[in-house]
Amino acid sequence: MTRNKTIGWAVFGGVAACAVAVAVRKLVDTRRNAGVARGKRIVVVGAGLGGGAVAQELARLLPDPANGSITLIDEDNFLLFTPMLTEAAGGELEVRHVAVPLRGLSDRIQLVQGAVREIDLSSRTVTVKVSHSGHDPEDRQITADHLVIALGSVTNYHGIPGVAEHSLGVKRLEDASAICKQVLSRLEQAKTESDESRRKALLTFVVAGGGFTGVETMAAINSLVREQVDRTNIAAKGELRTILINPGDRLLGELSPKLADYATQKLQQRGVEIHMKTSITGASASTVNIKPGEQIPTNTLIWAAGVMPNPIVSQLDCEKGKHGGIKVNGCCQVVEHEGIWAIGDCAEIPNPAGKPGTYAPTAQNATREGALVARNIVGTLKGISPRPFTFRPLGELALVGKYSGVARLLGFNISGLLAWALWRGVYLAKMPGTATKVGVISDWTRDLVFGRRAVPMNMHAIGSNASTPAELHASTAAR
Ligand SMILES: Cc1cc2nc3c(=O)[nH]c(=O)nc-3n(C[C@H](O)[C@H](O)[C@H](O)COP(=O)(O)OP(=O)(O)OC[C@H]3O[C@@H](n4cnc5c(N)ncnc54)[C@H](O)[C@@H]3O)c2cc1C
Repeated sequence: MTRNKTIGWAVFGGVAACAVAVAVRKLVDTRRNAGVARGKRIVVVGAGLGGGAVAQELARLLPDPANGSITLIDEDNFLLFTPMLTEAAGGELEVRHVAVPLRGLSDRIQLVQGAVREIDLSSRTVTVKVSHSGHDPEDRQITADHLVIALGSVTNYHGIPGVAEHSLGVKRLEDASAICKQVLSRLEQAKTESDESRRKALLTFVVAGGGFTGVETMAAINSLVREQVDRTNIAAKGELRTILINPGDRLLGELSPKLADYATQKLQQRGVEIHMKTSITGASASTVNIKPGEQIPTNTLIWAAGVMPNPIVSQLDCEKGKHGGIKVNGCCQVVEHEGIWAIGDCAEIPNPAGKPGTYAPTAQNATREGALVARNIVGTLKGISPRPFTFRPLGELALVGKYSGVARLLGFNISGLLAWALWRGVYLAKMPGTATKVGVISDWTRDLVFGRRAVPMNMHAIGSNASTPAELHASTAAR
């Protein structure tokens, strides 16, 4: 009894100490920022990993509403945790578990759900198409004193004929749902297909791209189809083809050749055919054309072969970088326009100390750029010069299938089960929101104990229930 009482008091003491620490930190931040100019309007467009980080850090640094408003604009009402998107596509995670509701971020953040149509940099005004239930969507204009552009990137089809129309991307939440749905549908359709060549096309799954997203997508889809076939009598194992197409001469160009070899071998052992130095030259609903003059009969092409800055960027009246992103200085400022900042996949931030090139479009960079820009905006409001972005990634991790991964962390190369476990630990820790983490842990546990129960989520909630490229493109265009 006395022991229980002691534990009870210890827990109570711990919770009370945390509450006091949070209150003190809030008070200190409020005091420290009391001198910040009042009533300022800070607007962040894009609530992804970069924009979400800006808004959250601003809410922490400027807890007093008298300092002004923090407005976050996005066409979705959730933040998509992209590192886990491929697991959702493979049915290992429920699709909704990789989306973090924006409402839960902070009371200080005003959320505007709508599609950004136009940004006038000289007046710092954003035009947003906002929908109200029962009314036609209307344009709303929002003007800022400080405007952060964090609109991310879109799938790049490189203008290859037929690919945009006949492939599924791996970029948005609805992509994961559509991939899972299409893969499972193809298996079902194959079961009742008597024509041999049509059956072959239904049972062939092609992923384009040998980078992180392509490899992880292939690993996830390969596990999904092979587990389904193991459990059911849909098809014979030998009939399945999972094919990864990579224009380069090895996978995972950012990692060492040894880790790339490990990933290649692991995928091949699990039945994946890998076509190196192969480019896709066209696609239709039933074929993928590859150089030189070869065709792969397939009804499923998943495109993970590149991204490009959000198309809105090309309309902006400012200088663009080598990859078409917004050119900013080291502090993430658009130099031609005061009070405009840009971060993440839609920006090109120069490497520090005169090193050539710009920071890579990664989540690691976007979240840190976001936090820095928030601090720079608060600093600017206090009359302090902004600081440049400097960050050296701690490493890279990729999943190459069940219980298997590759990682380069703090200069060490790691592969196999340890890399897989590290991947899960690192990304779970990085995922925002306790409730979201619990959802992911429950999916992983269910998968471990009972195996995969791939049931694609009904996406009506976010305006898309597509399962084919055509349906998906139509639903996205209608938003
Ligand atoms: C499948 C996948 C896996 C990945 N895995 C990793 C990983 O493991 N590690 C890593 O470091 N990086 C990873 N990345 C890269 C990482 O996701 C991006 O670099 C990062 O999300 C960039 O952040 P961002 O804020 O610039 O863009 P995003 O996070 O894409 O956010 C952009 C936001 O803008 C919104 N938006 C776009 N257009 C409009 C509009 N017109 N109106 C309103 N809102 C709009 C979008 O809805 C979105 O919320 C992965 C990417 C993908 C696709």
